[in-house]
Amino acid sequence: MPGSLPYFLPGVPPGEQLFFFAQAAEQSPVSMVITQQDMTIVYVNERYSRLTGYKPEELVGQKASILKSGLTPLKTYQDMRTTLAAGQAWRGEFHNRKKNSDLYWEFALISPLKNQQGEITHYLGLLEDLSERQRTVTIFEYMANHDSLTDLPNQVYFQAQLERALAARSAQSPQLAVILLDIDRFKIITETLGHSPGDGLLCALAERLVSALPKNMLVSRRGGDEFLILLPGIEHFQTVVKTAQQILTLFQEPFQQDGNRVHLTASLGISLAPEDGSTVQALLQSADAALYDAKDAGRNNYKFFKLKNFPESFERLSLENDLRTALERQEMRVFYQPQVSLDSGKIVGMEALVRWQHPQHGLLAPVHFIPLAEETGLIVPLGLWILTMACDQCRTWQKAGYPPLRLAVNLSARQFLQPELVESILHILMETDLEPRFLELEITESILMKDINMTILILRWLKKKGIQIAVDDFGTGYSSLTYLNRFPIDTLKIDQSFVRDCPNNSDNATLVSAIRSLAKALHLRVIAEGVETAEQLEFLSGLRGEEIQGFYFSRPVPPDEFEQLLRDGKQLPARIGPESSPRH
Ligand code: C2E
Ligand code: MG
Ligand code: MG
Repeated sequence: MPGSLPYFLPGVPPGEQLFFFAQAAEQSPVSMVITQQDMTIVYVNERYSRLTGYKPEELVGQKASILKSGLTPLKTYQDMRTTLAAGQAWRGEFHNRKKNSDLYWEFALISPLKNQQGEITHYLGLLEDLSERQRTVTIFEYMANHDSLTDLPNQVYFQAQLERALAARSAQSPQLAVILLDIDRFKIITETLGHSPGDGLLCALAERLVSALPKNMLVSRRGGDEFLILLPGIEHFQTVVKTAQQILTLFQEPFQQDGNRVHLTASLGISLAPEDGSTVQALLQSADAALYDAKDAGRNNYKFFKLKNFPESFERLSLENDLRTALERQEMRVFYQPQVSLDSGKIVGMEALVRWQHPQHGLLAPVHFIPLAEETGLIVPLGLWILTMACDQCRTWQKAGYPPLRLAVNLSARQFLQPELVESILHILMETDLEPRFLELEITESILMKDINMTILILRWLKKKGIQIAVDDFGTGYSSLTYLNRFPIDTLKIDQSFVRDCPNNSDNATLVSAIRSLAKALHLRVIAEGVETAEQLEFLSGLRGEEIQGFYFSRPVPPDEFEQLLRDGKQLPARIGPESSPRH
């Protein structure tokens, strides 16, 4: 209502009317902000300042974009601008960032304010902070699927779909393929182009891939200049070959970057299920190995994973036979990898990781035999053996006088579903004389989600006995997030795929921060897995992450080497900086 205030407070002198309204705004439980048309903040109420952690004087004069986290889709801002420009109120949601860099999610109602001439001069924002838990979970779920640069699904989504596709393989289409694409010499090319980081090239490639490939194929970005393509339900091998050739021809046309014509080529590594692996991890590793072959063969081509990369006896049958006798022949080993506190720099725990000292093929990593052990049920005796060895070792070190460490042991899905699980574990603890509070069982998100109610029961039972629970490879099965607070868990282990190119990959870095906020909200310990470099360590300590595990501090090592670490009192440098690295 131009010309006069729309409200008038009876009994309040005209000169004080505004003063009263100002007080009302100041005390409102709703966060309130007023900006000029160019989004420069001119007023925030007390509630808003408390929500964001900024003092009013730190916000006034700043652009509202000071709170942007980069997580709100650009379309949201465009919508808002169009609606406001038309003189209408807009409502929507923002993912913003507080002064202390925590993420928060707000619901916003923004309306134009007019001057006495009826012209829009300012905007009023009324903001509601969505509940803490819901907020973190949903931001996380958004992030978890999404590559913000290319808008493609990301690696996490890809892995979930691959898992689904593996489960859905049918007699008609028993095969599926994974193509891993890596642009040749991308780093050199983008560096010679000058300051531009090549983002435009990656987006252009994403577009070409999506528009050229059939809709049933899933194109996703793994990170950096790597893309993953899933070909589900293949009936003919020829389809895979054709697709690979088609992808390579997408590079014949040069790309445009800042007015330059850029010629790119790519190498492809291809793995097939079930031949090259029947799990997500095995297929990705096989695709990686095949990509390596393609690069080795001069780039700009594709290679299938070759069984030669593995010893001959990886033929299932003979491997299975070997596995059956491996325990009796004492070929299994348990290695230990330290878990290190970022606060004290000291080793506070260790994860037991199994190895198979195969008489012909040498030391084998679990990826080569755990899936088979799962399928055949051999995992049950093997798992109990590992648990016994590890508990015994842990107790031995305690008795030797080393500071008591937490012992993490992995449980596979099949083990988890054993009706005797809890009893067997308690029995082993008793036999080895280890107090339950030192044992932490690691289970993956997919196990959690299999049968939620059953899982909760089992976990509660274990917890009641004093055993701790960690969620392994966290972030790779985002669907469980909504349920997370229902599980009695102690620890989240951030999957190494997120840590891998932190802090350079801003999506991963944001995701790691989001997991940190989530853990904080749920009062959980966080362990970042796969920390390999000083940069990653520095990034994590910047976030006050609690514990790390990774090659940077130590690889998984046999018991005698682990004991040497304890004896040497190896720890992280007190102050973490780029110039300080741990002694080896
Ligand atoms: P996980 O439980 O997530 O174990 C961590 C894996 O990351 C280990 O691989 C470890 O060697 C590796 N790792 C640790 N730090 C780094 C790093 O800085 N960089 C890189 N690139 N990798 C790192 P590993 O030993 O090959 O085990 C693979 C998986 O096999 C384990 O993943 C776990 O799911 C399973 N596994 C291992 N031991 C057992 C076991 O005793 N029982 C069962 N059921 N599963 C096991
Ligand atoms: Mg683990
Ligand atoms: Mg893990």
